[in-house]
Amino acid sequence: MLTLSRKVASLKPSATLTLFARAKAMMAKGIDVVSLTAGEPDFPTPEPIKQAAIKAIQENFTKYTPNQGIPKLLEVVAEKFRRENNLFFDPSQILVSHGAKHSLFNAIQAVCNPGDEVIIPAPYWVSHPEMVKLAGAKVVVVETSPKNQFKITPTQLKKAITNKTKMFIFCSPSNPTGAVYSVEEISALARVVEKSGLYVLSDEIYEKVVYEQNVHFSIGSIESIRDKVITVNGVSKAYAMTGWRIGYMGGPKAIIAAAEKIQGQMTSNAASISQRAALAALQLDLSAELQVMVNEFDRRRRYLSAEFDKLGIEYIYPAGAFYLFFNAKKFLKGGLRTDDALCEHLLLKHNVAMVPGSGFGASGWMRISYACSMQELEKAVARLQPAFDALR
Ligand code: PMP
Ligand code: GLU
Repeated sequence: MLTLSRKVASLKPSATLTLFARAKAMMAKGIDVVSLTAGEPDFPTPEPIKQAAIKAIQENFTKYTPNQGIPKLLEVVAEKFRRENNLFFDPSQILVSHGAKHSLFNAIQAVCNPGDEVIIPAPYWVSHPEMVKLAGAKVVVVETSPKNQFKITPTQLKKAITNKTKMFIFCSPSNPTGAVYSVEEISALARVVEKSGLYVLSDEIYEKVVYEQNVHFSIGSIESIRDKVITVNGVSKAYAMTGWRIGYMGGPKAIIAAAEKIQGQMTSNAASISQRAALAALQLDLSAELQVMVNEFDRRRRYLSAEFDKLGIEYIYPAGAFYLFFNAKKFLKGGLRTDDALCEHLLLKHNVAMVPGSGFGASGWMRISYACSMQELEKAVARLQPAFDALR
């Protein structure tokens, strides 16, 4: 009989991608589903980026590139980290991969051994723990509180550290909660890290999507822990480039070299054309284009939170990213005892697709992505209102 690897048997499918695919499949059958699933900006990729890719094709820049990434892109990423994040990497300390997801995977594979422990605050992004499991390491989930916008506290972090802890995965702005840690909060966590031997894997993919007075701050810029932090970022969310698949990371030389070795045996270089597009994204001044997108996300955020206030549903007011994470526990009764069941009900009976919180390590909660259009959001709210009323 065919048997599969034990690794695969213990791996959960990505809840975000599963729900995204289900919504798409229903749409393909002609069903009018509103998909609030994947965190995918609905904007087109800015024109100058597309032009750079077209030029790359016309110039026949369609061959293998160095595995690590094209030298100019490595330079530009190092410069971006220096200018915007106060992170100082030599281009040799940068690795360009097939999306930030791939960068995270490479970093975890490069650092973690079976038996190592990796601390992940919950709610977490669906793929962080599964990637740790793929490396054979042990996931140590730290439950956080909605009273603290689901942010891990220094005391909680300290308590979770053992002599087996190898890594702490940190994500601000957070997917799924939209929480953004302040400089003070990050500094306090850094003081705990400073006293331990662990690495921090900082997922900063939502860096550019922050609202009002909130600012993004890179934990790796704190002097005392600089050499312990691997910083991951990419172009997917900031530049509406999810399909181009370019992510990158900067970190200690030995870790980047190890990750490059892994990439060299797995996938080789990220797509040459996409690398040229990413180069344009990072080199050109697209701040006006970015601001238009962030302003629009902000408008949707305000709309959605006002509607959830009217519905009397508890949620985390997003400080960044484009997700609204809400508490659905009061609707879990009768035949709908879990967030998965509720999600299924809302999809099949009301044609609204969302992602259950259990995929993010927060049962009873649900995630809405408001990266879709305002019309879609309004349509979703019009459907959710009677749906929730009927469940009260
Ligand atoms: N990290 C987080 C927290 C994310 O939400 C995502 C979603 N795509 C990624 C990483 C991966 O992004 P990419 O599209 O660059 O692989
Ligand atoms: N990161 C996005 C999300 O959380 C896209 C889907 C995925 O890669 O998981 O929805």
